[in-house]
Amino acid sequence: MDINKFPAEPFRIKSVEPVKMNTREERERIVKEAGYNTFLINSEDVYIDLLTDSGTNAMSDRQWGGLMVGDEAYAGSRNWHHLEDTVKELFGFKHVVPTHQGRGAENILSSIAIKPGQYVLGNMYFTTTRFHQEKNGGVFIDIIKDVAHDAGKNVPFKGDIDLQKLQKVIDEKGAKNIAYICLAVTVNLAGGQPVSMKNIREVSQLAKKHGIKIFFDATRCVENAYFIKEQEPGFENKTIAEIVHEMFSYGDGCTMSGKKDCLVNIGGFLCMNDEELFQAAKEIVVVYEGMPSYGGMAGRDMEAMAIGLKESMQYEYIRHRVLQVRYLGERLLEAGIPIIEPVGGHAVFLDAKRFCPHLKQEEFPAQSLAANLYLESGVRSMERGIVSAGRDPKTGENHVPNLETVRLTIPRRVYTYKHMDVVADAVIKLYKHKEDIKGLRFVYEPKQLRFFTARFEEI
Ligand SMILES: *Cc1c(COP(=O)(O)O)cnc(C)c1O
Repeated sequence: MDINKFPAEPFRIKSVEPVKMNTREERERIVKEAGYNTFLINSEDVYIDLLTDSGTNAMSDRQWGGLMVGDEAYAGSRNWHHLEDTVKELFGFKHVVPTHQGRGAENILSSIAIKPGQYVLGNMYFTTTRFHQEKNGGVFIDIIKDVAHDAGKNVPFKGDIDLQKLQKVIDEKGAKNIAYICLAVTVNLAGGQPVSMKNIREVSQLAKKHGIKIFFDATRCVENAYFIKEQEPGFENKTIAEIVHEMFSYGDGCTMSGKKDCLVNIGGFLCMNDEELFQAAKEIVVVYEGMPSYGGMAGRDMEAMAIGLKESMQYEYIRHRVLQVRYLGERLLEAGIPIIEPVGGHAVFLDAKRFCPHLKQEEFPAQSLAANLYLESGVRSMERGIVSAGRDPKTGENHVPNLETVRLTIPRRVYTYKHMDVVADAVIKLYKHKEDIKGLRFVYEPKQLRFFTARFEEI
């Protein structure tokens, strides 16, 4: 392993949490009892947990220290001011509204910025984000470049918005019927693919010309900034913080899930520049989240988030983070495993269509692949395909995404390269007998965000 290509962990380990591996017989029983849904497996029964990078971050000693100075006052906590100042400084937006996590921010933004029947444009969608947009009467239109839907195409900045698609929607629907553009950096469901600064700039110019607002999904903005620094000409010598600041200078606000790039386990916030929207957001936050000075977070959580956000902008941290993910991807590619290319910022996505060509998409190949990987190795992953995409609320038909994937999501600062090797070996072993992976059918299908709690049986 080339130490320059894949730098060692830029931290030492001060506290450990033992994990155990159970037997294949136990896992057979467990996966059946969980209805072949990895969300329904208990954490204690998992050896390496790559279900999500959400809220699974390891905090630093400084963040743990921050918990001790939590000011748990109901109103005006000093930790809130620390967080507010940090977000304003790093993101550059005028106003910040705290929420319990990202979807709390999405709920508020969608309810104050979307009029029923208006269109919301996005570079692909995210499950909870689109849910709130549609719940508030928005009609989602995907304007990401076509190449993002092509798992095998290895091009940089696959998360970019297609400017022609954007222009076409403006021409056909009229700018006043567009609530806003939801610009995700990076694009989770496209495989953690980044958006270039050039694209953000161009989208912003076009949007401004037509008076359309841009709200970022800022969830993985630090990872996006790393890709810009690494791959976009002109940014080699800029700091991560400078790049993040410039990205957001092209927008009107953002929603943020603190559980990802803020290096904490819970929390989120909403930002905006507009005064009226800010007032409206503060009126709603008290109903669903809490006072505008805590929004569902404890004082100590806000302190840890303020510290985590600053740590996340350190180059050594984010470089190791992205490269560790890439290491896993490269090991799989070397073994001929079909994955989404290029490897994104937070996860490696197995391409279930090519992994299980013997299964139809209606037989939920990615769902079954995730269940079988657990069975094989105790490694937990997540389906991101037709099950996650859900049904069209109007027609009741399944959304049928091009991408049918299993996401191996790497928690931040939690696992080592050796763990990545264990995961790679497990996937490679399963690939050798992939024909044994059977299709699934629903035995229980929830109406909303079905992937979280659905149950299946083997066909
Ligand atoms: C996790 C996530 C959200 C939602 O945030 P929560 O904190 O889980 O509510 C929104 N957008 C993206 C891209 C995410 O990954």
